[in-house]
Order: sequence, then C-alpha cells, then structure tokens
Amino acid sequence: MTYVERVLKNLKKRNPGEPEFHQAATEILTTLAPVVEKHPEYEKAGLLERFVEPERVVMFRVPWVDDKGKVQVNKGYRVQFNSAIGPYKGGLRFHPSVNLSIIKFLGLEQILKNSLTGLPIGGGKGGSDFDPKGKSDREIMAFCQSFMTELYRHIGADTDVPAGDIGVGGREIGYMFGQYKRIRNEHVGVLTGRGLTYGGSLVRTEATGYGLIYITEEALKARGDSFEGKTVVISGSGNVAIYACQKAQSLGAKVVAMYDSNGYIYDPQGIDLAVVKDIKEVKRGRIKEYAERVPGSVYTEGCKGIWTIPCDIALPCATQNEIDEQSAQTLVNNGCKYVGEGANMPSTLEAIEVFQKNGVVFLPAKAANAGGGATSALEMAQSSGRMFWSFEEVDAKLKGIMVNIYHNIDNAAKEYGYEGNYVMGANIAGFIKVAEAMMAQGVV
Ligand code: NDP
Repeated sequence: MTYVERVLKNLKKRNPGEPEFHQAATEILTTLAPVVEKHPEYEKAGLLERFVEPERVVMFRVPWVDDKGKVQVNKGYRVQFNSAIGPYKGGLRFHPSVNLSIIKFLGLEQILKNSLTGLPIGGGKGGSDFDPKGKSDREIMAFCQSFMTELYRHIGADTDVPAGDIGVGGREIGYMFGQYKRIRNEHVGVLTGRGLTYGGSLVRTEATGYGLIYITEEALKARGDSFEGKTVVISGSGNVAIYACQKAQSLGAKVVAMYDSNGYIYDPQGIDLAVVKDIKEVKRGRIKEYAERVPGSVYTEGCKGIWTIPCDIALPCATQNEIDEQSAQTLVNNGCKYVGEGANMPSTLEAIEVFQKNGVVFLPAKAANAGGGATSALEMAQSSGRMFWSFEEVDAKLKGIMVNIYHNIDNAAKEYGYEGNYVMGANIAGFIKVAEAMMAQGVV
C-alpha cells in the first residue's frame, strides 16, 4: 500500500460517517501521489497525516428565540484546518444540510484554494444548520448574535477571519460583525465581506463570480478563444452565480439558464440579469417568478434538467455534487467544451472523470472560485492598513491573481506530466506551498 493509500484508509476509519470529507480528501490526496514520491521526507515528517487533520474543531450550541417567542437551538461549527501560511480564512455557511463532514470537506479545500491565491491566508470553514429561508430580519439578527457570542472567542484579525458562503451575505456578516465589536470592543478586520461603510472592500461582492470568469477567460485565451458568442449555463442564482453571469455577459456570452434549489429557468434570448437580481437580491424570492415576468422564458421544476440544455461553457455555481456522471455525459454529448466550478465540489468524482476523458477543459473549484478568498485577503490588507482602494484597483488585482492561478496550475500540471489536467495542477501547486511552510515550522 502506498503512503497516500494508507493515509486515506486511516482517514476513513478515523472519521466515519463523513462522506463529503472522504470525497474531498480522496480527490486531493490521490493527485498528490507524484509529489510525495518526489519528496520522501514528507512521509517521514507525517506531513499528509497532519495535513488532513484539522488543527482545531469547535462545535457549539446556538440558542435563539424566534418571532413566536419559542426557543430554537442550532449547531454551530468552526473548523480551523491549517494555519501554516497565514491566519485561518474561509466562509461560514448557514444551510440545513450543514454538518461536520461538509464543513471539513470545505475546510480542506480551502487550504489549497487560499494557497493558490499567492496571498498569506490559511484554511478554515464554519457554519450552522440554521436555515435563513423564510426567517424575519429580527430572527436572522437574533441567530447571528447568538452564533457570534460563542464564535468571537475563537477568531481574530490575526487568528481566524471568517467570510460569507451559502446563506451568509452582507446582512448576516453585518449582524455578526456588530456583535463581535460589541463583545470585544475592537473595530478590526475579523470578518470579510463587510459593508463598504464599515471596513468592506469594493469588488468583494462580485469577486467569486468575476474571478471564475477571469480564469475561464484565460483558459479560453490560451486556446485562441473567448467568451464572445458562447452559450453559457450557470447553476444557482446566488452571489457567485449572479456575478459570474454579469461578467460573462459583459464579455459577449449568452447565459441561457440559471436555477435555485426548486427549479431552473431557460431563456433562449439570454437571461435578463436585472430581473434575476430583483427576484433574488431584493425580494429574496424564487427564480420561478422569472418565467412569469419574462416572455419566452420557461421554468422547469427540479434542478438536474439544467444540464440537458446545450451549451459551450457550463458554470456550476450553487452547491456540492450538482453534476453527476450522467449529467456530465449529457453536457459532453451536447458539445460542452469548458466547465468552470464556481461552487465548491459541484462535480462528483465520476463527473470529473467524464470531463477529463472527453477533453473538456475542466477548471476545479479550488482554482476557479479562489477569487472570493483572494479578495477577502485584499479586504484584510485594506483593514490593517486603514485604507480603501478603488473598484478598478481591486478588480485589477483580482484579475491578476486569477490569471496567475491559471498559469500556476497549468505549469504544475505540465511539470508533473499531466498537461491540461487542472485537478492535478491545482492540488499540486496549492499543496507544495503549504507543505514547504509546514516542513519549515517543524512538527506542530
Ligand atoms: P448563495 O447562498 O448566495 O447562493 C446559493 C445558490 O445555490 C442559491 O441560488 C441556492 O438556491 C442554490 N442552492 C443552494 N443549495 C442548493 C441545492 N442543494 N440544490 C440546488 N440549488 C441550491 O451562495 P453563494 O453564491 O455564496 O455560494 C454558492 C457556491 O459557491 C457554494 O458552493 C459556495 O461554497 C461557493 N463559494 C462561494 C464563495 C463566495 O464568495 N460567496 C467563495 C467561494 C466559493 P436557493 O435560493 O433556493 O437557496
């Protein structure tokens, strides 16, 4: 049994009932085999064993009172996975599906993603099984304040800097920041994704979606192509999906479909993003309404059918395991040539295999959606320097980072003999920096 196989076997045995964590660890570790072969000192230093074990896991009770006066209790999590290259950094997810396995898979991915940005940020992730859907503003505030009343003691501007993720946007970050500031009496960059009036950064809202398009654009450019005239399908209609759509459209692409967790809309004329933004950002409504408002568009209940719509470029931007083997095959059969992952782990391992076997240019999440984390780090830099950069300045830095990531993963894939395999390239390029930092810091 090889070193990687042993670590994986042990990981599954020691972390039972954590399928998403197993999936992410399998995807990552199997691609690192050539690296650990080249560096036998890593095995001696127990590097992979340490790499897959979070430095700290915090789990806590989040009690709050709903509008009917009833006490509710949710679970809270923060996994501080790896701080070798910088303070823990990663989003908070509020969704009923959240459990330790999901937070650990996201945290593990985050380590490599943040490393790829080239900025000094470690990896962490957190959240709660709280469901913000249908809750009043007061209920959201009560929950966020209770969540922070425990979390505050574990985080800090130089220790661990959470951000948003599914179910956590500007509103939730604001309530959590207010509570942190009240308890600690310090106005510091402890959360990113803050509002522009209290320490936020321009472009943070758009960053993940824009970043996804910048890296995909670079992959297209490397093949003498561009977004101009391309048909694009984007899943999700949240933060990442909306700004990916906006940037893709500005580069001349036609985005024809989007969804939320109930179903998808297909608009052969090209999505009218202003309508989507009004429904999702302003009214916090359902995407179904789009078909009622835009003539010629169609709504279909259920999500999976979105991948049967022919497209040149597919951008999954909602959640994990959205594209299975069958959907991947359908995309390939319909002529899809590029897949860029805006969401975390939206493609199953089998789906990735289908893409790679069929020559689809596949940009994995940890590279393709790193723009959010990168811009968070730019927000941290502005906070500690007491500065505020212009939109153009931050956007140019974000673009530079994404273009750089593309070339780093492309070069790493080539160097290890896997040209064009960006799963290998991203894992290897991200891991090497973390591995070197861990080796330099001794057994900690
Ligand atoms: P949002 O909450 O803003 O949007 C999520 C979107 O996905 C919504 O349209 C939601 O539908 C849909 N969705 C969620 N769960 C499911 C599901 N089980 N099935 C179908 N649709 C679903 O989240 P974000 O846009 O911030 O995040 C999307 C993805 O991007 C996540 O994987 C996240 O981890 C990843 N990501 C986000 C970053 C960021 O900066 N925000 C950074 C890097 C990665 P509905 O409206 O019905 O809930």
